[in-house]
Amino acid sequence: MRILVTGGAGFIGSHFVRSLLSDADPGFTAPTAVTVLDVLTYAGNPANLAPVQGDPRLTFIRGDILDTGRVTELMAGHDAVVHLAAESHVDRSIAAGAGFASTNVLGTQNLLEAAVHAAGLGTFVHVSTDEVYGSIPVGSWTEEQPLSPNSPYSAAKAGSDLLALAYHRTHGLDVRITRCSNNYGPHQYPEKIIPLFITRLLDGLPVPLYGDGEQIRDWLHVEDHCRAIRLVLEGGRPGEVYNVGGGTELTNKQLTGLLLDACGRDWESVEHVPDRKAHDARYSVDWSKIRDELGYRPRRSFDEGLAATVDWYRDNRPWWQPLTGPTA
Ligand code: NAD
Repeated sequence: MRILVTGGAGFIGSHFVRSLLSDADPGFTAPTAVTVLDVLTYAGNPANLAPVQGDPRLTFIRGDILDTGRVTELMAGHDAVVHLAAESHVDRSIAAGAGFASTNVLGTQNLLEAAVHAAGLGTFVHVSTDEVYGSIPVGSWTEEQPLSPNSPYSAAKAGSDLLALAYHRTHGLDVRITRCSNNYGPHQYPEKIIPLFITRLLDGLPVPLYGDGEQIRDWLHVEDHCRAIRLVLEGGRPGEVYNVGGGTELTNKQLTGLLLDACGRDWESVEHVPDRKAHDARYSVDWSKIRDELGYRPRRSFDEGLAATVDWYRDNRPWWQPLTGPTA
């Protein structure tokens, strides 16, 4: 299978590409070719692909998913697309939403349109997020839940989900959507809570905790998310949505406590800052569909995965140091 991966130099995309090319899981078909299309925004980093850059099956193309000519040309030579390219940070979407609408909505539409016209292209996996459902005080959203996003980021992702489903219904394109909870792991840009807090604590700096810190998120190791994407790529059904969860719900305050312990700091390092605008109180997805249909289960325990992630940031300062500080 020849796979085009958009956003393959980012956090999840690069992990996905490294796992595709590691051939480590005999349960999956080894790809014959993997092409990464990534424009390298601040969040894209070619160093994330360094471990696989000598693999003859890998081609890296620096390019924009909004570039119709480039996307049309690339799509024709592939059997499947795994679409991860996006603007992905909620805080940035609150500060300036235009790039979120263009990349996440128009960029996805551009890819879908090219996919419809590409002879030979089979499956299009669109990687989305649990944030499209909005906040849920108790219980968990199933895939049937109407979308109710609250941030410009999640609204743009919801727009791209609806377009993906429309291309399936209208044109019969084999689109499959994943909606995953919060990911953590190595190579995550130090702006999201876990890598931001780890890198600051390792530098002896204070960490900003939003509001009362009682917002609840469900955490999943990036490795488990990438396995779920592969299960959907190889065994999912066209036109279907698959929620992907981790089973570790924590308040941001609880998470902060764990990170303080792991980095040898105490609550004196925590600065309480005003809450994020329209901050969703809780996300939770019911992921029994992917479990029952495709046999998905998270494998990494949160305690072990978090400790390994802290170790990775401790051991890989040259990766993140240039990305932190006042000008980063
Ligand atoms: P990221 O910000 O680390 O990476 C995004 C990548 O997309 C970067 O390499 C960037 O250069 C690239 N990109 C951005 N705009 C592009 C464009 N116009 N053309 C080509 N490439 C472009 O994001 P991530 O955390 O790895 O998330 C990947 C996907 O997974 C996103 O679609 C996101 O919505 C989704 N997701 C993320 C999480 C999470 O917790 N991080 C959870 C669920 C779903």
